[in-house]
Amino acid sequence: MNASSPTGADLHLHSSYSDGTFTPREVVAQAACRNVCPIALTDHDTVAGIPEALQAGAEMSVEVIPGVELSAHEDSQEIHILGYFIRWEDTTFQGTLDTLEGTRRDRLQEILRRLHRLGVPLTLTEVFQIAGKGTVGRLHVARALLARGSVRSRQEAFDRFLAQGRPAYVNRMGLTARQAIAVIRQAEGVAVLAHPGRSGLALLTSLIEAGLQGIEVFHPSHDVEDIFTLTRAATEHNLLITGGSDCHGLAQGDVRLGQTQLPLAYVERLRQAATAQNPTRNT
Ligand SMILES: [Zn+2]
Ligand SMILES: [Zn+2]
Repeated sequence: MNASSPTGADLHLHSSYSDGTFTPREVVAQAACRNVCPIALTDHDTVAGIPEALQAGAEMSVEVIPGVELSAHEDSQEIHILGYFIRWEDTTFQGTLDTLEGTRRDRLQEILRRLHRLGVPLTLTEVFQIAGKGTVGRLHVARALLARGSVRSRQEAFDRFLAQGRPAYVNRMGLTARQAIAVIRQAEGVAVLAHPGRSGLALLTSLIEAGLQGIEVFHPSHDVEDIFTLTRAATEHNLLITGGSDCHGLAQGDVRLGQTQLPLAYVERLRQAATAQNPTRNT
């Protein structure tokens, strides 16, 4: 094989616009030096990093697919829905993301109120110092707790306070999974169920009815059996297959970018599906 031809794609990446540590430009640079292409930037509930990623991609010859990872809930579980080839400049779509940002901030305030009651006086300013300009989530709260010495590790922050069932856990408001799919489809994106594991397929039929088009089969949290089960489910239901490293830069210790790669044939099927939805789009 030609040394310069990419070996695979990574369609699940976060930047500093959500809870990753790399700027979009740094994400693209990491992909370039690992020979991973195309990549998709899929920040949580925001597309604000996409212009920078597209610009950097053009400069470094790395194709960047505009994406997003929407947080949603269904039957009290948290579900993530990925959107690919999304019309990210669409004003209705951006309006929905702005509303979600409001509910995220309300949730953050409630988490902080609960931490205060538990004797941990973490402030909004401390959390925003960690989060910067990006979407704020529990990972930022965990990092802020670590920074002020209230816990010894991020894991401890989740185990003691932030994980579901712990005293500072606050239910997400926001979108249902069906709504998340509709939001992505309205913006002419391709909607994919993120990292379901083999136990996360219970809702598959209802999500397909809502317009789901694919399953993220390749993900670091999936073992061989998950990959087998999810591939079979995708084939059975005629769904697209996607995958990626879910790299958050250095937020989770190591740079995962490119460690989970999607064979390029699957990217082409995804592209075809996006083009079929909007033939005038230049994908
Ligand atoms: Zn996710
Ligand atoms: Zn993710």
